[in-house]
Amino acid sequence: MMTSDNQSSNPLLSRQIGLPVLVIGLALSGCLVGIGILTDLESTHRAMFITTGLVGMLYSLALPTVLIALARRHNALWLGLILINSLMVNWLLIIEPFSFKGIGLTACLILTLASAVLMGRWQSYTFMVLTMLMYRVLPLILHTGISPVSTGIQIALVGISIGITETIYLMQKRIEHDFQRLKVVNQMTRSLAYSIETSQVMSLMSGAIQAVLDADTYFIGLVQDDHINLKLFYDDGEFFSNMSIDREGTLGGWVVNRRRSLLLTDAPNQLKDLGLDGKIIGKPHVSLSWMGTPLQTPDHVFGVVAVASYKRNAFNNSDLELLENFAQQASITLDNAYHHAEVEEQSTQDSLTRVLNHSNFLKHFLKETEKAAQHHYPLSVIMLDVDHFKKYNDNYGHLVGDQVLVGLSELVRRYTKSSDLVGRWGGEEFIIALPQTSGIQANLVAERIRKAINRMEVFDRENNHIPPPTVSQGIALFPQESDRPETLLDMADKRMLLAKNRGRDQIEPPAEHWHGIQPHYINSSN
Ligand code: GH3
Ligand code: MG
Ligand code: MG
Repeated sequence: MMTSDNQSSNPLLSRQIGLPVLVIGLALSGCLVGIGILTDLESTHRAMFITTGLVGMLYSLALPTVLIALARRHNALWLGLILINSLMVNWLLIIEPFSFKGIGLTACLILTLASAVLMGRWQSYTFMVLTMLMYRVLPLILHTGISPVSTGIQIALVGISIGITETIYLMQKRIEHDFQRLKVVNQMTRSLAYSIETSQVMSLMSGAIQAVLDADTYFIGLVQDDHINLKLFYDDGEFFSNMSIDREGTLGGWVVNRRRSLLLTDAPNQLKDLGLDGKIIGKPHVSLSWMGTPLQTPDHVFGVVAVASYKRNAFNNSDLELLENFAQQASITLDNAYHHAEVEEQSTQDSLTRVLNHSNFLKHFLKETEKAAQHHYPLSVIMLDVDHFKKYNDNYGHLVGDQVLVGLSELVRRYTKSSDLVGRWGGEEFIIALPQTSGIQANLVAERIRKAINRMEVFDRENNHIPPPTVSQGIALFPQESDRPETLLDMADKRMLLAKNRGRDQIEPPAEHWHGIQPHYINSSN
C-alpha cells in the first residue's frame, strides 16, 4: 500500500491539530504575562514572566504558521526549532519556582504534541531527549536552581511522550493512506469521465488498483456466453493476454452469476464452503486472499474485476469497498463505451437488414477495389433486386414486406464469405462485393443465392405460407471488365435490369459469358 514517508508534511493533520496547539500556547503565554502583571512579584521576576509570556505568544503564533513551513524547506532548521523548544521547557522550569507550578511540565507536553503533529516522529523524540539532557546540564552551566521533577514524573513524561508520538504517527499514516486512496478514486473518476473506449477504462482501473491495493494479481473480465474473457490479467509483475476462464466453477463466475461481491481472506479453506475448486491461472502461485466485484448496470452484469494476493488476510472490507467503488465508476463508462461502439456500428449498418448501408458499402467497396488492384486479384460485384416486390407490400402489408427483406438479407449473408461485402443499395435492392472471386465463381454464388431464395419460407401476418420471392441479379468483374469502381457498379446495375427484362429470376450475364474472359491471379475459390 502507498503511504507517504514524510509524515511531517501531512497538511491535513497539521491544520487540524496545529490550531489547538497555537491556542494552548497563546493561553499559557497569556497566563505568564498575567502572572507577571497581576501577582505580587519582585521586579526582576515580574520582568522575566512578562518577557517570557510575550516571547511565548510570538513563538506560539510563529511556530505553526511560519517556522514549520520554513523548516520544511530547509531541513537544518528542525534542529534549531527543537533546541528552542527544549530551552523553553527548561527556562519555564527555572522560573516556575517563583510562581506558577507545573507550567514547565504542561509546556513540555504541549511541545511534545506540537513536535509530533507539526514536525514529525524523529523531531518529537529528539525534543524529548534534548529536553532531558538540558534538564541535567543547564543548572550546572547557568549555576541556577531548577524546579525538581521526580524520577516517577520523568518516567511518566517519557511514557506519555512516546504514547503521543506513536499515536500521532499512526494517525498520520492512516490519514495519509485514506487521503491517497481518495486521491486515486478522484483521479480515476475524473479520467473516466473523458474515457469512451474499453481499453482506456481497463488501463485506468489497472493503474488505480496498483496504486492503492496490495495486489499480487488482478484481472478485469468481460462475460461472453459461458466464459469470461480476461481483457486484462496481471500476475506478479507480468501482463498476460488472451486468457479466459469458465463462468461455472470459478470465483469470477461466482461473482458474475450471483451479481455479488466476494471477499476471501483465507481462500483455500473458504473455497470449499463455496463448493469451488481452486484453479490456478497465470503463474504457479496459490492466491490466499481474493476479492472480486461485478461490473454491472442495474439491468445487466457484463463482467468482473478481481484482485488477489499470495498472503492470507491481505484485504479487508474497506479494500473491498474501494474495489466496488472502482467497479461502479468503471461500469458506467464501460457501459457507455459499449453503447458508443454499438451506435457506431449501427450507423454503418442498415437498420432493418443489418447489412452495410449504402454509403458504407461504397466506402469499403472503394478500399477493396484498391486492394484488388494493388495485389492483382479479381473482384466481382453482384447487384440483386427483388422481383415484383411491390406486390408483397400491396398484398400482405408493409410489415410482411419488411420481413421478406430481413430474411433475404440473412440468406445472402449465409451464402457469402465473411470477407465479402453485403450492402443494401436502396429499397429492395442489394449489392454484394466478392474479393478474389472471378466472374464464373460469382455466377455460382449468385445461382446458389437465387435457388436458396426460391426455397425461402415466407409467412403472412396470419402465419400462412405465402410464395417466396424471386430475384434478378447482374454481375460485373473487376478489373477485367472495368477498373473503375463506378463503371463496374453501373454495369452490374444494367445487367440486373437486363435480367428483369429477360423474364426475372435469373442472372445476367449467364455463366458462358465468362469463358472468354481470362481470370488472372485468382487465389481462392468461393
Ligand atoms: P421489379 O421486379 O421491377 O423490381 O418490381 P418491384 O415491385 O420490386 O419494383 P418497384 O421499384 O416498382 O417497387 C419496389 C417497392 O419496394 C416499392 C417500395 O415501397 C418497396 N420498398 C422499398 N423499401 C422498402 C422497405 O424497406 N420495406 C418495404 N416493406 N417495402 C419497401
Ligand atoms: Mg424490385
Ligand atoms: Mg428496385
